[in-house]
Amino acid sequence: MKPLADLATSIPRSGIREVMELASSMDDVIHLEVGEPDFATPEEIVEAAGEAARAGYTRYTPNAGFMSLRRAVAERLVAAGRSDVTYEHIVITPGAVCALATAVFATVNQGDEVLIPDPGWPNYRSMVMLCGAEPVPYELDRATGYMPRDGSLAAVASPRSKLLMTNSPANPTGAVFSHETARQLYEFASARDLYVVSDEVYESFVFDGRHESLAQFDTDGRVIVVSGFSKSFAMTGWRLGYAIAAPPIAVIMAKLMEPLVSCASSIAQKAGEAALRLPDERVGEMRRSYARRAVLVNDILGSVGLLMAVPRGAFYALVDVSAAGSNSNEIARDLLRTERVATAPGATFGAQAEATVRISLAAEESVLVEGCRRIRRYLEDVSKERASLPSGPPSS
Ligand code: PLP
Repeated sequence: MKPLADLATSIPRSGIREVMELASSMDDVIHLEVGEPDFATPEEIVEAAGEAARAGYTRYTPNAGFMSLRRAVAERLVAAGRSDVTYEHIVITPGAVCALATAVFATVNQGDEVLIPDPGWPNYRSMVMLCGAEPVPYELDRATGYMPRDGSLAAVASPRSKLLMTNSPANPTGAVFSHETARQLYEFASARDLYVVSDEVYESFVFDGRHESLAQFDTDGRVIVVSGFSKSFAMTGWRLGYAIAAPPIAVIMAKLMEPLVSCASSIAQKAGEAALRLPDERVGEMRRSYARRAVLVNDILGSVGLLMAVPRGAFYALVDVSAAGSNSNEIARDLLRTERVATAPGATFGAQAEATVRISLAAEESVLVEGCRRIRRYLEDVSKERASLPSGPPSS
């Protein structure tokens, strides 16, 4: 038989999924590898889905989603100060991941370069590669809490650059852009005539201060914001997200939905409308809970210098595992074998996270605390072991 498609076979598998699969075959594992809220989807949303199914919302929807949901998303944005947004800017997708992929497909040609954060969510790299475009990582700087390193964008941008991808609050670092950082990123893109895909799926989870969307600076419709319901409303399995884009881009993205997925699930979309009717306080409870967990993780790991940065948003923390070596794939597997804690190997997020593992704060508090204690014990044990090893042949 002829070989399968080059592009599809060349795309790396997510290292997060690999650890998940390994861990699923073992008992008594503490799962800190997955980026998934531990909260149940609020009951009102589940009820609304049941009612929608019984009322016959069981058919295809328009490519861009039900008009009622597009309007509801737009109204929420207007209420939050984005007075320019109408339903024409909104494309509803099955998960934010599909909004991100269609945004990339809508803006990038084969051979173009796309600037992606390092460390960053691994799916950016694979979706860019799927387009036949080239992912070009730009360095985030640990010293500044994982803001783009000064000059790192200019160092890697080229005349072939077409799109800048940004993410705040960030996976895997927990970093949150300041107003100034968001403005600088927009200005960089504008000066080089780049489109921007601003991944804001964790916008509800900023622990201190406010979320700064890149869209607030956009004067000519180059910024596509992506967000969704998975994280804010604990709805990962419902597969519901959306993009906010200038209408000419939104039209193309909606057109792309047809050959890829046709539309988001009708029932999930009705559930999404119910989610948007919930009082903000419901999301606030989850935000406070993640913020509390960030403090706990900092107490156990940060206090002994094992956190790369204190998470300021989203629900992740990068742990410094350099005491155990530099191969995070091996370290994550060893940690799983010896301490029964599943983590995501840093290497999957880029070269800048090679000697780290990512833990998710979206685990019940006592489980998270126990997981962090085991990680700390593991790192202390390997440090001692390494210190007791002879440091090499004696010099003559
Ligand atoms: N963007 C980032 C940074 C993520 O971490 C994730 C999920 O983990 C997504 C997008 C995708 O979210 P969704 O479930 O809405 O597809």
